Amino acid sequence: MSFDDEDTPLAQAAAAAVYVRRGLKGTFAAPASTRVLTVANQKGGVGKTTTAVNLAASMALAGLKVLVIDLDPQGNASTAFGVDHQEDTAGTYDVLVDQEAIAEAMVAAPGFDSLWVLPASLDLAGADIELITTVPDEERPFRLREALDNFLAEYEMDYVFVDCPPSLGMLTINALAAVTEVLIPIQCEFYALEGVQQLLRTIEFARDRLNPELEVSTILLTMFNTNTNLSAQVADSVREFFGDKVLTAAIPRSTYVAEAPSHGQSVMTYDPGSTGAVAYLAAAREITERG
Ligand code: ATP
Ligand code: MG
Repeated sequence: MSFDDEDTPLAQAAAAAVYVRRGLKGTFAAPASTRVLTVANQKGGVGKTTTAVNLAASMALAGLKVLVIDLDPQGNASTAFGVDHQEDTAGTYDVLVDQEAIAEAMVAAPGFDSLWVLPASLDLAGADIELITTVPDEERPFRLREALDNFLAEYEMDYVFVDCPPSLGMLTINALAAVTEVLIPIQCEFYALEGVQQLLRTIEFARDRLNPELEVSTILLTMFNTNTNLSAQVADSVREFFGDKVLTAAIPRSTYVAEAPSHGQSVMTYDPGSTGAVAYLAAAREITERG
Protein backbone atom coordinates (compact mmCIF):
# COMPACT_ATOMS: atom_id res chain seq x y z
CA MET A 1 0.00 0.00 0.00
CA SER A 2 1.17 3.50 -0.66
CA PHE A 3 -0.57 6.57 0.65
CA ASP A 4 0.13 8.64 -2.42
CA ASP A 5 -1.26 6.12 -4.90
CA GLU A 6 -4.74 6.85 -3.57
CA ASP A 7 -6.59 9.26 -5.81
CA THR A 8 -8.63 11.47 -3.51
CA PRO A 9 -7.20 13.69 -0.77
CA LEU A 10 -9.39 11.97 1.81
CA ALA A 11 -8.25 8.51 0.77
CA GLN A 12 -4.64 9.72 0.80
CA ALA A 13 -5.07 11.09 4.30
CA ALA A 14 -6.62 7.86 5.56
CA ALA A 15 -3.89 5.78 3.95
CA ALA A 16 -1.17 8.04 5.34
CA ALA A 17 -2.60 7.79 8.85
CA VAL A 18 -2.58 3.99 8.63
CA TYR A 19 0.91 4.10 7.18
CA VAL A 20 2.27 6.16 10.03
CA ARG A 21 0.40 4.30 12.78
CA ARG A 22 1.54 0.89 11.62
CA GLY A 23 5.00 2.23 10.96
CA LEU A 24 5.34 0.31 7.72
CA LYS A 25 9.06 0.00 7.87
CA GLY A 26 11.14 -0.52 4.81
CA THR A 27 8.80 1.46 2.57
CA PHE A 28 11.43 4.09 1.74
CA ALA A 29 14.62 2.95 0.08
CA ALA A 30 17.81 3.53 2.07
CA PRO A 31 20.53 5.40 0.15
CA ALA A 32 23.71 3.58 -0.88
CA SER A 33 25.67 5.91 1.39
CA THR A 34 24.64 8.56 3.91
CA ARG A 35 22.95 11.59 2.35
CA VAL A 36 23.62 14.82 4.19
CA LEU A 37 21.30 17.74 3.47
CA THR A 38 21.37 21.21 4.86
CA VAL A 39 18.07 23.05 4.98
CA ALA A 40 18.94 26.66 4.30
CA ASN A 41 17.32 29.98 3.47
CA GLN A 42 18.45 33.18 5.14
CA LYS A 43 14.87 34.42 4.96
CA GLY A 44 13.19 33.84 8.32
CA GLY A 45 10.05 31.80 8.85
CA VAL A 46 9.92 30.07 5.46
CA GLY A 47 9.57 26.58 6.92
CA LYS A 48 13.21 25.43 7.29
CA THR A 49 12.75 23.88 10.70
CA THR A 50 9.31 22.47 9.95
CA THR A 51 10.76 20.87 6.82
CA ALA A 52 13.86 19.41 8.50
CA VAL A 53 11.75 18.04 11.35
CA ASN A 54 8.98 16.49 9.29
CA LEU A 55 11.15 15.03 6.55
CA ALA A 56 13.37 13.48 9.22
CA ALA A 57 10.34 12.16 11.11
CA SER A 58 8.82 10.69 7.92
CA MET A 59 12.01 8.90 7.06
CA ALA A 60 12.54 7.59 10.60
CA LEU A 61 8.95 6.29 10.71
CA ALA A 62 9.76 4.40 7.53
CA GLY A 63 12.67 2.78 9.35
CA LEU A 64 15.56 4.86 8.06
CA LYS A 65 18.25 6.05 10.46
CA VAL A 66 18.24 9.82 10.69
CA LEU A 67 20.20 12.50 12.53
CA VAL A 68 18.94 16.07 12.80
CA ILE A 69 21.56 18.69 13.61
CA ASP A 70 19.99 21.78 15.12
CA LEU A 71 22.23 24.62 14.00
CA ASP A 72 19.90 27.42 15.08
CA PRO A 73 20.36 29.01 18.53
CA GLN A 74 16.56 29.35 18.69
CA GLY A 75 16.54 25.55 19.09
CA ASN A 76 13.23 25.17 17.29
CA ALA A 77 14.04 21.74 15.86
CA SER A 78 15.01 20.55 19.33
CA THR A 79 11.69 21.84 20.71
CA ALA A 80 9.74 20.19 17.91
CA PHE A 81 11.19 16.81 18.86
CA GLY A 82 10.55 17.37 22.55
CA VAL A 83 14.29 17.33 23.23
CA ASP A 84 15.86 19.32 26.11
CA HIS A 85 17.83 22.34 25.00
CA GLN A 86 18.12 24.69 27.93
CA GLU A 87 21.46 26.41 28.44
CA ASP A 88 24.28 24.02 29.33
CA THR A 89 22.65 21.11 27.51
CA ALA A 90 25.38 19.44 25.48
CA GLY A 91 24.76 20.01 21.80
CA THR A 92 25.85 21.78 18.65
CA TYR A 93 27.73 24.48 20.54
CA ASP A 94 29.98 21.91 22.23
CA VAL A 95 30.60 20.16 18.93
CA LEU A 96 31.57 23.37 17.11
CA VAL A 97 33.43 25.25 19.81
CA ASP A 98 34.81 22.51 22.09
CA GLN A 99 35.10 19.80 19.44
CA GLU A 100 33.02 17.36 21.41
CA ALA A 101 31.99 14.24 19.46
CA ILE A 102 28.50 14.34 17.91
CA ALA A 103 27.78 10.89 19.35
CA GLU A 104 28.43 12.21 22.87
CA ALA A 105 26.05 15.13 22.53
CA MET A 106 23.20 13.74 20.42
CA VAL A 107 20.05 12.38 22.02
CA ALA A 108 17.38 9.93 20.82
CA ALA A 109 14.16 11.69 19.83
CA PRO A 110 11.31 10.52 22.09
CA GLY A 111 8.80 8.31 20.29
CA PHE A 112 11.16 7.24 17.49
CA ASP A 113 13.33 4.14 17.11
CA SER A 114 15.89 5.54 14.69
CA LEU A 115 15.99 9.31 15.00
CA TRP A 116 18.58 11.33 16.86
CA VAL A 117 18.90 15.06 17.49
CA LEU A 118 21.95 17.16 18.16
CA PRO A 119 20.25 19.89 20.21
CA ALA A 120 20.93 23.60 20.00
CA SER A 121 20.83 25.76 23.11
CA LEU A 122 21.04 29.53 23.29
CA ASP A 123 24.81 29.17 23.90
CA LEU A 124 25.02 28.60 20.18
CA ALA A 125 24.23 32.28 19.63
CA GLY A 126 27.75 33.01 20.86
CA ALA A 127 29.43 30.34 18.75
CA ASP A 128 29.87 32.65 15.74
CA ILE A 129 31.97 35.13 17.65
CA GLU A 130 33.83 32.45 19.61
CA LEU A 131 34.80 30.66 16.42
CA ILE A 132 35.95 33.96 14.92
CA THR A 133 38.07 34.89 17.92
CA THR A 134 39.52 31.50 18.87
CA VAL A 135 39.74 29.33 15.75
CA PRO A 136 42.22 29.94 12.92
CA ASP A 137 40.69 31.19 9.64
CA GLU A 138 41.45 28.07 7.67
CA GLU A 139 39.89 25.77 10.24
CA ARG A 140 36.83 27.83 11.17
CA PRO A 141 34.41 26.84 8.37
CA PHE A 142 35.19 23.14 8.78
CA ARG A 143 34.35 22.44 12.41
CA LEU A 144 31.01 20.80 11.57
CA ARG A 145 32.45 18.88 8.63
CA GLU A 146 35.21 17.44 10.79
CA ALA A 147 32.76 16.40 13.49
CA LEU A 148 30.39 14.86 10.96
CA ASP A 149 33.17 12.98 9.15
CA ASN A 150 34.33 11.48 12.45
CA PHE A 151 30.77 10.59 13.39
CA LEU A 152 29.86 8.98 10.06
CA ALA A 153 33.09 6.97 10.05
CA GLU A 154 31.78 5.21 13.14
CA TYR A 155 27.98 5.36 12.98
CA GLU A 156 25.73 4.27 10.15
CA MET A 157 23.09 6.84 9.20
CA ASP A 158 20.84 7.00 6.15
CA TYR A 159 20.10 10.73 6.29
CA VAL A 160 21.47 13.73 8.14
CA PHE A 161 19.51 16.99 8.10
CA VAL A 162 21.07 20.26 9.22
CA ASP A 163 18.57 22.93 10.25
CA CYS A 164 20.15 26.34 9.60
CA PRO A 165 19.40 29.67 11.26
CA PRO A 166 17.95 32.51 9.13
CA SER A 167 21.32 34.09 8.37
CA LEU A 168 24.38 33.49 6.24
CA GLY A 169 26.90 33.70 9.08
CA MET A 170 29.55 31.26 10.26
CA LEU A 171 26.98 28.66 11.38
CA THR A 172 25.43 28.43 7.92
CA ILE A 173 28.90 28.48 6.34
CA ASN A 174 29.83 25.49 8.53
CA ALA A 175 26.71 23.73 7.29
CA LEU A 176 27.51 24.46 3.64
CA ALA A 177 31.06 23.19 4.10
CA ALA A 178 29.84 19.96 5.72
CA VAL A 179 27.17 18.64 3.36
CA THR A 180 26.78 17.70 -0.29
CA GLU A 181 23.16 18.73 -0.73
CA VAL A 182 21.26 21.91 -0.01
CA LEU A 183 17.50 21.81 0.36
CA ILE A 184 15.90 25.25 0.00
CA PRO A 185 12.37 25.63 1.31
CA ILE A 186 10.55 28.43 -0.49
CA GLN A 187 7.43 29.89 1.01
CA CYS A 188 4.66 30.42 -1.54
CA GLU A 189 4.23 34.14 -1.05
CA PHE A 190 4.98 37.33 -2.92
CA TYR A 191 8.54 37.96 -1.76
CA ALA A 192 9.51 34.30 -2.07
CA LEU A 193 12.29 34.66 -4.61
CA GLU A 194 13.74 37.81 -3.12
CA GLY A 195 16.87 36.88 -1.26
CA VAL A 196 17.18 33.54 -3.03
CA GLN A 197 19.79 35.07 -5.37
CA GLN A 198 21.87 36.04 -2.37
CA LEU A 199 21.54 32.54 -0.97
CA LEU A 200 22.58 31.05 -4.31
CA ARG A 201 25.64 33.34 -4.40
CA THR A 202 26.61 32.21 -0.90
CA ILE A 203 26.23 28.58 -1.95
CA GLU A 204 28.39 29.26 -5.00
CA PHE A 205 31.02 30.90 -2.80
CA ALA A 206 30.97 27.89 -0.49
CA ARG A 207 31.32 25.53 -3.45
CA ASP A 208 34.25 27.45 -4.92
CA ARG A 209 36.17 28.00 -1.70
CA LEU A 210 35.15 25.28 0.74
CA ASN A 211 33.31 22.35 -0.72
CA PRO A 212 33.42 21.52 -4.46
CA GLU A 213 30.78 18.78 -4.04
CA LEU A 214 28.10 21.14 -2.80
CA GLU A 215 24.93 21.44 -4.87
CA VAL A 216 21.37 22.62 -4.51
CA SER A 217 19.63 19.29 -4.92
CA THR A 218 16.12 20.02 -3.73
CA ILE A 219 13.59 22.84 -3.63
CA LEU A 220 10.44 22.43 -1.56
CA LEU A 221 7.45 24.75 -1.84
CA THR A 222 6.04 25.44 1.62
CA MET A 223 2.91 27.03 3.08
CA PHE A 224 1.07 26.67 -0.19
CA ASN A 225 -2.34 28.29 0.07
CA THR A 226 -4.85 26.54 -2.16
CA ASN A 227 -7.33 29.39 -1.76
CA THR A 228 -5.28 32.02 -3.55
CA ASN A 229 -3.90 32.39 -7.05
CA LEU A 230 -0.76 33.90 -5.60
CA SER A 231 0.57 30.59 -4.26
CA ALA A 232 0.08 28.95 -7.64
CA GLN A 233 1.82 31.86 -9.40
CA VAL A 234 4.78 31.73 -7.04
CA ALA A 235 4.97 27.95 -7.45
CA ASP A 236 5.01 28.38 -11.25
CA SER A 237 7.84 30.90 -11.16
CA VAL A 238 9.86 28.77 -8.74
CA ARG A 239 9.39 25.72 -10.99
CA GLU A 240 10.39 27.78 -14.00
CA PHE A 241 13.54 28.99 -12.29
CA PHE A 242 14.68 25.77 -10.62
CA GLY A 243 13.22 23.16 -12.99
CA ASP A 244 13.20 19.57 -11.81
CA LYS A 245 14.98 20.35 -8.56
CA VAL A 246 11.56 21.36 -7.26
CA LEU A 247 9.74 18.46 -5.62
CA THR A 248 6.34 17.61 -7.05
CA ALA A 249 4.91 17.57 -3.54
CA ALA A 250 4.19 21.04 -2.17
CA ILE A 251 3.41 21.58 1.50
CA PRO A 252 0.03 23.23 2.11
CA ARG A 253 -0.65 25.65 4.91
CA SER A 254 -2.08 23.56 7.69
CA THR A 255 -2.98 24.40 11.26
CA TYR A 256 -1.78 21.00 12.47
CA VAL A 257 1.69 21.63 11.07
CA ALA A 258 1.89 24.87 13.06
CA GLU A 259 0.42 23.32 16.22
CA ALA A 260 2.53 20.18 16.39
CA PRO A 261 5.75 21.77 17.82
CA SER A 262 3.88 23.15 20.84
CA HIS A 263 3.19 19.50 21.70
CA GLY A 264 6.85 18.60 21.23
CA GLN A 265 5.95 16.58 18.17
CA SER A 266 6.32 16.46 14.43
CA VAL A 267 3.05 16.65 12.51
CA MET A 268 3.82 13.11 11.34
CA THR A 269 3.01 11.81 14.81
CA TYR A 270 0.73 14.64 16.00
CA ASP A 271 -1.78 14.25 13.18
CA PRO A 272 -0.58 11.78 10.57
CA GLY A 273 -3.76 12.08 8.49
CA SER A 274 -3.58 15.88 8.12
CA THR A 275 -2.87 17.40 4.73
CA GLY A 276 0.49 18.70 5.98
CA ALA A 277 1.61 15.26 7.16
CA VAL A 278 0.52 13.64 3.91
CA ALA A 279 2.45 16.24 1.94
CA TYR A 280 5.62 15.85 4.03
CA LEU A 281 5.45 12.07 3.63
CA ALA A 282 5.14 12.50 -0.12
CA ALA A 283 8.08 14.95 -0.16
CA ALA A 284 10.20 12.57 1.93
CA ARG A 285 9.41 9.71 -0.41
CA GLU A 286 10.36 11.80 -3.45
CA ILE A 287 13.69 12.68 -1.88
CA THR A 288 14.45 9.03 -1.16
CA GLU A 289 13.44 8.02 -4.67
CA ARG A 290 15.47 10.72 -6.37
CA GLY A 291 18.60 9.29 -4.75
P1 ATP B 1 13.42 30.61 11.18
O1 ATP B 1 13.97 31.36 10.02
O2 ATP B 1 12.97 31.48 12.30
O3 ATP B 1 14.31 29.49 11.62
P2 ATP B 1 11.97 28.66 9.67
O4 ATP B 1 12.37 29.01 8.29
O5 ATP B 1 12.66 27.53 10.33
O6 ATP B 1 12.06 29.94 10.62
P3 ATP B 1 9.55 27.49 10.59
O7 ATP B 1 9.88 27.76 12.01
O8 ATP B 1 9.62 26.10 10.13
O9 ATP B 1 10.41 28.43 9.64
O10 ATP B 1 8.10 28.04 10.23
C1 ATP B 1 7.75 29.38 10.54
C2 ATP B 1 6.34 29.40 11.18
O11 ATP B 1 5.40 28.94 10.23
C3 ATP B 1 6.22 28.46 12.37
O12 ATP B 1 5.37 29.03 13.30
C4 ATP B 1 5.61 27.21 11.79
O13 ATP B 1 4.88 26.46 12.72
C5 ATP B 1 4.73 27.79 10.70
N1 ATP B 1 4.58 26.84 9.57
C6 ATP B 1 5.56 26.24 8.89
N2 ATP B 1 5.06 25.46 7.91
C7 ATP B 1 3.72 25.59 7.99
C8 ATP B 1 2.62 25.05 7.24
N3 ATP B 1 2.81 24.21 6.22
N4 ATP B 1 1.37 25.41 7.62
C9 ATP B 1 1.16 26.27 8.65
N5 ATP B 1 2.14 26.81 9.37
C10 ATP B 1 3.40 26.49 9.06
MG1 MG C 1 14.01 27.55 11.96
